[in-house]
Amino acid sequence: MKKIAIYGKGGIGKSTTVSNVAAALASQGKSVMQIGCDPKADSTLGLTGGQRIRSVLSVLREQREGVTLDDITVRGSLGVICVESGGPKPGTGCAGRGIVSAFEKLEELHAHQVFKPDMIMYDVLGDVVCGGFSMPLRRGFADQVYIVTSGEMMSLYAMGNIVEAVRSYSGRGYAELGGVILNKKGIADEEEIARKATAEVGVPIVFTLERDPVVQQAEALATTVIEAFGDSAQADAYRALADLLLTSPVSQPDPGEEEPGWTSATGRRASVGVREVRKLARRSSR
Ligand code: ADP
Ligand code: MG
Repeated sequence: MKKIAIYGKGGIGKSTTVSNVAAALASQGKSVMQIGCDPKADSTLGLTGGQRIRSVLSVLREQREGVTLDDITVRGSLGVICVESGGPKPGTGCAGRGIVSAFEKLEELHAHQVFKPDMIMYDVLGDVVCGGFSMPLRRGFADQVYIVTSGEMMSLYAMGNIVEAVRSYSGRGYAELGGVILNKKGIADEEEIARKATAEVGVPIVFTLERDPVVQQAEALATTVIEAFGDSAQADAYRALADLLLTSPVSQPDPGEEEPGWTSATGRRASVGVREVRKLARRSSR
């Protein structure tokens, strides 16, 4: 089972990329789970024919007892298991709260063991990498983090912040950096700018996606490029990225590893452990 988290600035193309990778893997017969970790809860729209699914947080809000996996997961196209963590109503609390609650519920219901997916992808908003948004970085959830960016300044800035956050959690019990996925916006000298920026923070660009109008055309049909335009160059690119993400090796955690999230490699307590995350989330939800 490969478990990866995709971070990046809002609007940079995370959900589009993740949904197409999910569709590419599923069409090769792999079992895939896609977990949207963005309060917008729109990660899986391309796999559900544009139908909004109930987020875990809204299910938990309406029904406190007896929630089952059927209540919080939906089979999208090609059988992809879709989950949206959701978030609080805007302005009413910590946006990371949905992630914390969703992850606790998925763990409690043994989602990983029940579905046994070949690939789990967390699609995480990376404009803020605090509290709940760092939850997928814990091993047990994701093993590897990929960051989607374009050559635009603000998305490169977000990339830098995410790299810093991932590094600050680095060590036993946390996901490792897999690399950067450059999703081009079509600006001048984009690859050059992105290469310089990623070199500065010491993270490689592992894959480059072109900007292609078939992405919008598929979106207008409420589906993925893989399904609607399977013969396009963009579909080939998503399939190649899917292979890379599924097969890229993950370094094995130390066998003497402590409970994820508790202690950093230096022996110092990580700045925000999961207990703090929960506390923060509860406090801000009051
Ligand atoms: P995020 O999940 O990071 O917020 P989305 O995946 O929703 O971003 O993408 C934002 C917009 O960018 C969408 O309308 C999508 O169609 C477009 N987009 C993403 N990647 C590409 C691409 N490679 N070529 C063309 N349009 C793209
Ligand atoms: Mg998104």
